[in-house]
Amino acid sequence: MSRASRKANSSFGSRTDVGCVREHNEDSLVVAPPLYVVCDGMGGHAAGEVASEIAVNVIAERAPRHPDAEALGQAVEEANLAIIRGAREGVGREGMGTTCTAALLENERLVIAQVGDSRAYLLHQGRLQQLTRDHSLMADLIEAGQITPAEARVHPQRSVITRALGSDPRTVPDLFEINVETGDRLLLCSDGLSGMVEDDQIEAIMNRTADPQRCAAQLVNEAVANGGYDNVTVVVADVTGFAEVRQRKMARRTKATAIMLVVLLALIVAGAVGVFNLFTSNAAFLADDEGKVAIYQGVQGDVFGLSTAQLVEVTDVSVDDLQPGTANRLRADGIKADSVEGARELVQDYRDEIEERRQREAGEVAGAAAAAGADDGSAAPDASDPASAVNYADPAAGDDAAAATGEGA
Ligand code: MN
Repeated sequence: MSRASRKANSSFGSRTDVGCVREHNEDSLVVAPPLYVVCDGMGGHAAGEVASEIAVNVIAERAPRHPDAEALGQAVEEANLAIIRGAREGVGREGMGTTCTAALLENERLVIAQVGDSRAYLLHQGRLQQLTRDHSLMADLIEAGQITPAEARVHPQRSVITRALGSDPRTVPDLFEINVETGDRLLLCSDGLSGMVEDDQIEAIMNRTADPQRCAAQLVNEAVANGGYDNVTVVVADVTGFAEVRQRKMARRTKATAIMLVVLLALIVAGAVGVFNLFTSNAAFLADDEGKVAIYQGVQGDVFGLSTAQLVEVTDVSVDDLQPGTANRLRADGIKADSVEGARELVQDYRDEIEERRQREAGEVAGAAAAAGADDGSAAPDASDPASAVNYADPAAGDDAAAATGEGA
């Protein structure tokens, strides 16, 4: 199996060891991505084992599913109460306690809840940095400038811790929210490692051992090789969020595109509605309403399944009275107008047209009647043509003429 594929298959590893001196391993751990926990129990006669086990069980049950420092901190607080309750109820012993370093690592987000002197480290660009601050007498003395880290390492009170789970119901963890990068490596460990192996040695092992499981084993081996005075527990988790982060970014981009499309669609709809309103508020058309010309406001037909027209008025103009072309157009498609006013003007035009036609027709009838009545008189202009005058005026004369012509022939 290649290193790359093994790395791809497993981005975390862990190892716990009783060490060379202790009879019990009182450390407990959780490796259930995205949750990683190391608890270092104390209390003697295996009570520390009980305390650390209660802690990891409660945290595993109550921790959030995704990095959330507050919620992880609450899970740690519940673990604290559970240990206190356990001691009262006779599970383990009064005074038992445990450290707790709990981490949620998902993609490039890391949160940590911390009580005691177990530690979280981050290997970032090959450099090891301690993320947590020990709740210990040594840390306080170092910070106060009273001793050096080297002196703390061999100090007789080096295992005195100033905060633990299981003693005070008001105990709260320190919370950390850390942005990590793909390629970074998280290390959680009990003081059995950090007390036995120098940071630069831890850094060297973490840098040279690509596989996290092998890395965890080598760190524990190093602590044991250095004496193994304490239980040693190590969790190594690689930040491998690259693919997931890229997917997430893609998803975000897809979402952004989707949102853009929705916005665009909304704009189109808004535009259409605007145009629709424009039409419905201003436009008008004429249509046939039981033989009469009717004025409608709006546009004919449906837009988005909504009826857009509203009857304004049925006029006195009969469709049959319109010119045939106009009547057909009106019956078939309706006749559009810019506005109701425009439609009224159009109807008025039709009315005038019809009136004109009526008058014309009446005039023609009258004319025809007049023409019929003036038939004799019409001959007058033709009087210049004696023959025709003769023909019309006196058919008999024509006969004569014909006779005359006949006679002439
Ligand atoms: Mn320890």
